[in-house]
Amino acid sequence: METLTYSLKADHSGTENYYSDVRAFTDEVIQKSSESLSLIVGDYTKFLREYKLEDIRENEEYILELLSFGILWRSYAGKALAVKRAPFITLAKMSEWRKKHQRLKPAIDIARGILFTLFLLPEKKTQLPAEPRLEDIDHVCKWFEATGEFREQALRFIRWRAYWSTLGKDDLLKIFLSIRQFTDWFLTRSVEVLGKYTENVDGFIEKTELKYRWREDRIQCTRSRSEYHLNMVGAELMNRAFRAEYLDTTKKVVLVPGCMRAHTNNECKARKVKEGLICEDCTPKCNVNRLRHMGMRYNFDVCIIPHASDLSLWSPRKGREKAGIIASACVTTLVEGGWELKRYDVPAQCVLLDYSGCKKHWHGEGIPTCFNRNELRRILDSGSKFNVQGSTLG
Ligand code: SF4
Repeated sequence: METLTYSLKADHSGTENYYSDVRAFTDEVIQKSSESLSLIVGDYTKFLREYKLEDIRENEEYILELLSFGILWRSYAGKALAVKRAPFITLAKMSEWRKKHQRLKPAIDIARGILFTLFLLPEKKTQLPAEPRLEDIDHVCKWFEATGEFREQALRFIRWRAYWSTLGKDDLLKIFLSIRQFTDWFLTRSVEVLGKYTENVDGFIEKTELKYRWREDRIQCTRSRSEYHLNMVGAELMNRAFRAEYLDTTKKVVLVPGCMRAHTNNECKARKVKEGLICEDCTPKCNVNRLRHMGMRYNFDVCIIPHASDLSLWSPRKGREKAGIIASACVTTLVEGGWELKRYDVPAQCVLLDYSGCKKHWHGEGIPTCFNRNELRRILDSGSKFNVQGSTLG
């Protein structure tokens, strides 16, 4: 099968090796962060407690926030700082409107695609100073929000920025130096461990540069290899951080993207509900239908949701049982979605699609996607701790 950007089946067998690799590497990331980032996280959580800014979350989340800051800063700050004037607020609002108003989404997306290239993605980058300045972080976060791709990250970075503004210059420099060194280490080490799963990313970006130029998915589809690795480890860190809350729920729902279906949107017979689509069993060859059958055995529901849909629909409501959500998506979008679910107080876990292949964003004809069902079983298994030794294949 054609690999567009990433494939978890690097050795052309199953994807079990990927899950062993990513778990071992995530252990390494946590171990490494304890040498350099733990103190920063400890001081930050003291600040959050003192000003009652949030309920303290698991350490894995804060480590992921710092690592995301380090990598996204390198990937985008130069471009973002080169943008002096842009309709930042309108663009940020447009990315929310498209989630709430699915009918207007095609029109909004055409406008976003044009505005992105006109305003947000200049040809030239600004030369970055050795360490970020606080006023630059404000500007870059505004840019992140405007893209709609990094809204959740921006919300978290702004909170870190509030903490950083309470520190003296020397302390601040030490923190940015630690983040920079940790990011350097991650960039090198992640290629060694996860590089075999992302070998086609650079070639894909080079080949399709012109194709995405005026499209709203330009940023999503041209993510760098380092961001793929960040999101692979990010998905694992999130699963660990959100695990206890998720296990507290009885009802489980697996959310899948439309690209898992055997048929196109027009041919698929799924029934429309407020939250998405429910499979109506039109063909046994469909991956969604197979999952639906698995759900009958393992006691979970399956719902097909469109890309960039309104995840607040899954937030706990009065009179509705709180559901544990298992969301699946491709590497470029999964972490953002996980953080969004967290913001809506949804106990979630995630599972990566084995590769990307949807017609809308990635492939001319579309390739039906899938994910590792053993991984889903491990997520459903309340005894599984997600370490390599604890993996229970069914
Ligand atoms: S089996 Fe279900 S999800 Fe798949 S195409 Fe048919 S109705 Fe749609």
